[in-house]
Amino acid sequence: MPGTRPEYGDGTRCVHAGLPDAVPGEPFLPGPVLAATYHLDPVEGPRAAANGYGRPDNPTRRLLEEAIGSLEGGDCRVFASGMAAISGALLTVLRPGDTALLPADGYYPLRSLATGTLAELGVTVHFVPTAGPYPSFEGVRLVLLETPSNPGLDVADIAAVAQRAHAAGALVAVDNTTATPLGQRPLELGADLVVASGTKALTGHADLLLGYVATRDTVLLERLTSWRTLGGAIPGAFDSWLAHRSLATMDLRLARQSANAAAVAAALAQRPDLSGLRWPGLPGDPSYAVAAQQMRRIPGIVSFDLGSAERVGRFLGASRLIAAATSFGGVHTSADRREQWGDDTPPGFVRLSCGVEDTADLVADLRAALDASR
Ligand SMILES: *Cc1c(COP(=O)(O)O)cnc(C)c1O
Repeated sequence: MPGTRPEYGDGTRCVHAGLPDAVPGEPFLPGPVLAATYHLDPVEGPRAAANGYGRPDNPTRRLLEEAIGSLEGGDCRVFASGMAAISGALLTVLRPGDTALLPADGYYPLRSLATGTLAELGVTVHFVPTAGPYPSFEGVRLVLLETPSNPGLDVADIAAVAQRAHAAGALVAVDNTTATPLGQRPLELGADLVVASGTKALTGHADLLLGYVATRDTVLLERLTSWRTLGGAIPGAFDSWLAHRSLATMDLRLARQSANAAAVAAALAQRPDLSGLRWPGLPGDPSYAVAAQQMRRIPGIVSFDLGSAERVGRFLGASRLIAAATSFGGVHTSADRREQWGDDTPPGFVRLSCGVEDTADLVADLRAALDASR
């Protein structure tokens, strides 16, 4: 399969990822196989063919897993959502009495899962800021990094944390949602597990929910597969197919999103009427040095503070191109006032996700909307 050749560039790998070999008369990407149950061999039963029942396995899902696995550089299992993937990974690895280090400033539902379910199961959780400092990893079972963190855009040095964590016997998982496998490949940097939401920039059309876990560890993979089969949080065949279709354009989408974010960050940096501007690609940003050394490209997400919820409302009301919406990484530029969801951010804090619109149009609209909101 061409998509699995490591010497190809991102665009080539994305276009070919997970596609079957060419067969005359067959499509490039086979259509979704919508089946809960399949014909079985009357005598051999499920031993005779790959497909038997839709929860453990589905051919459309297998191709998507092949595709994402080739991009991450490991074996992949897809889940119904990012949270299904993350909770699956945590509950596969952690046992009563274990200690886990989770991001203090990452995706906030993970903190709810930690203080609720994990604490009730007898897992001790310590929250660590993404930018560090990281405590001793002695006695820790799992360190989960989210880098760049959502929504604060701090960056952790994956290789450095993995080296120290492994020396202490801890496993390392990296939430790769914001970066995508084109932004960084955590397994190559030493992580044991990648967890991610495919709902965001990976698929990028704001039309499906997806999660995945990737690993090179066959024992972890087997346990995760078993967890998914028993927990049942699988993505449907149609969503899996839509996701795979979207992967082909990921290189193009991310390139424009990143270029738009660079222009937006430069425009925002000139304005005295906002504060707290963050974009890891901006020289001078606290994340710049580690991001420049670790990441292959910088995501299209910028954050800043407009001072009040009211001003954010006026800004979004005045913009013609920036949709008020949560989530990020889609082809349409959107902005989210994170505090309204209970995220631990100031009331005027905005996470802006740059889409693939023309850069000049987006920057002009942003400037006009900010002026109008003053
Ligand atoms: C959105 C997100 C998730 C959760 O993904 P869902 O697909 O919404 O379940 C997890 N981690 C990060 C960093 C996210 O941004």
